[in-house]
Amino acid sequence: MSNRRKPGARNVYRSEFLSSPAWHARRARWFRKQERLGRPLACTGCGVLATRDQLELHHLDYSGVRFAGGTWRAFERHVDLVPLHPYCHGLLHQIIEHDRVLAHHRGRRVASAIALNVLRNKLIRPQETA
Ligand SMILES: [Zn+2]
Ligand SMILES: [Zn+2]
Repeated sequence: MSNRRKPGARNVYRSEFLSSPAWHARRARWFRKQERLGRPLACTGCGVLATRDQLELHHLDYSGVRFAGGTWRAFERHVDLVPLHPYCHGLLHQIIEHDRVLAHHRGRRVASAIALNVLRNKLIRPQETA
């Protein structure tokens, strides 16, 4: 298993999925649900409030993603999608990819949680966490 973003057949499928209508619809549903739950939209990395157009969703788990009959289906759980600025999302993947243990020897969910902690410690100023 690899959590790396680029190489590997699995990730080719991921990039196809991320440009599919199923993912665009799933993404829209995620933001509608977040709004319905009354949760403020903010980047999980830096903690700054943002609009949906400013945020990407990181997958903690791809197990809800299916490809059947030539069509992508998106059944990710709401909590398995994490909103991040494109910049912060890129940093998150860099942290994972530059760490051999996180990239290759941890599940995606655990690797993401550890990398998110590193990212938040870097990006969120002390007075905002107090
Ligand atoms: Zn951010
Ligand atoms: Zn991601």
